[in-house]
Amino acid sequence: MIFASSRNVERTATLTTAIGRGLAPDGGLYIPQSLPRLQGGPDSTLLPAVAHWALEPFFSGDQLHPELAQIASEAFNFPAPLVALESGREPVEVLELFHGPTAAFKDFGARFLSGCLERVRAGSQRPLTILVATSGDTGGAVAAAFHRRPWVEVFVLFPLGQVSPRQQQQLTCWGDNVHSYAVRGSFDDCQRLVKGAFSDADITAARELSSANSINIGRLLPQLVYYAAASLQVQERTGRKASFIVPSGNLGNVMACVWAREAGLPIGRIVLAHNANRTVPDYLQTGQWQPRSSVATLASAMDVGDPSNMERLRALYPQVHALRDQVQAVSVDDDAICARIRADYATWGRVWCPHTATAAEAYARLPQQEREAHHWVIVATAHPAKFSEIVEPLIGREIPVPEALAALLTLPAHCRQLDADAGLFKQELIAA
Ligand SMILES: *Cc1c(COP(=O)(O)O)cnc(C)c1O
Repeated sequence: MIFASSRNVERTATLTTAIGRGLAPDGGLYIPQSLPRLQGGPDSTLLPAVAHWALEPFFSGDQLHPELAQIASEAFNFPAPLVALESGREPVEVLELFHGPTAAFKDFGARFLSGCLERVRAGSQRPLTILVATSGDTGGAVAAAFHRRPWVEVFVLFPLGQVSPRQQQQLTCWGDNVHSYAVRGSFDDCQRLVKGAFSDADITAARELSSANSINIGRLLPQLVYYAAASLQVQERTGRKASFIVPSGNLGNVMACVWAREAGLPIGRIVLAHNANRTVPDYLQTGQWQPRSSVATLASAMDVGDPSNMERLRALYPQVHALRDQVQAVSVDDDAICARIRADYATWGRVWCPHTATAAEAYARLPQQEREAHHWVIVATAHPAKFSEIVEPLIGREIPVPEALAALLTLPAHCRQLDADAGLFKQELIAA
């Protein structure tokens, strides 16, 4: 398969090159030049087998192709179960994506990307340096996936005092090749320091830099896999297509769902659940693309005002009316998030994280007739125990901590504080 820049289809690259670079040289994002039609089916319903079947066409012809089965079995070593909600007549299920080491769906992409980069980098003289600015979940997943890999160093920057206590622990409990910085500033300051480093000649001479956020195609492709597995399972069991409601911020997770449907998987509706950052719902409504600054919400991993993967979505559906035919989008504010966490705990005994609560609320807002006409799947992107300080007061009880997360919570933390100053960050990168 050939990949192309979202800004110029003539600018092509192999998968290996696209993963190694992250961003295309013209500033675009890599997209498949054409989407494959998946044939047949996987050998088993286990994620590594589904991954091998669903991703094989994307890897065909690439030097990573012979490694795909091994990369998939290393990355997909935890499950993504579909769990029914007891809701009476309406068929609704939850796709739980939070059973990985840092209890959010980003573990899938980070672990798969790490497996790909490890092979892409084999034989390189210098270690790679990955810079991650994070508002919470990405940094932890990337640190976990790259920790103690000898070919890479990771610098994680997060805004001091603006991530949850358990997120902070997941960002700082590593040490070795993972360097964590609490920046005295905002998430935007962290991003500015990272972007500045990429355009600093001294830093790029001293280090080979790369990024591990969802602009990298190596993080998006593995996310097709759980949509493939879940939709095949729903079809096998019910004969119907699965319709997904996806908590969305930078639109990486939903992009993978759209690609999975384009590749022929039995997927019906796709609904984007946003928090109070309404750029995408407003675009679908008005037809005007107006990116803005992010606003802080309880679902902080979705606080994105200018989602980067919109460029990929618009490359597929350039006209807003075409996009409206493909997806719906809703915006859910903090009050509605809190009310939904309380209500669904009372009704179903289910405890949502604030991100997943946006999807549960989007489901509740569907007209009754719509709810019954489709087989709905609420995508659960993080475990609520990661956000205990928000969720526990709403439901009035403690949330048991999953084992993998509990193990991280006992490790000693290593972290330095840093002023939001490009010169100081440069010293850290050159001295470390
Ligand atoms: C990152 C994240 C999201 C948003 O995913 P995108 O791919 O950026 O749209 C939603 N929920 C949680 C818990 C996240 O960490």
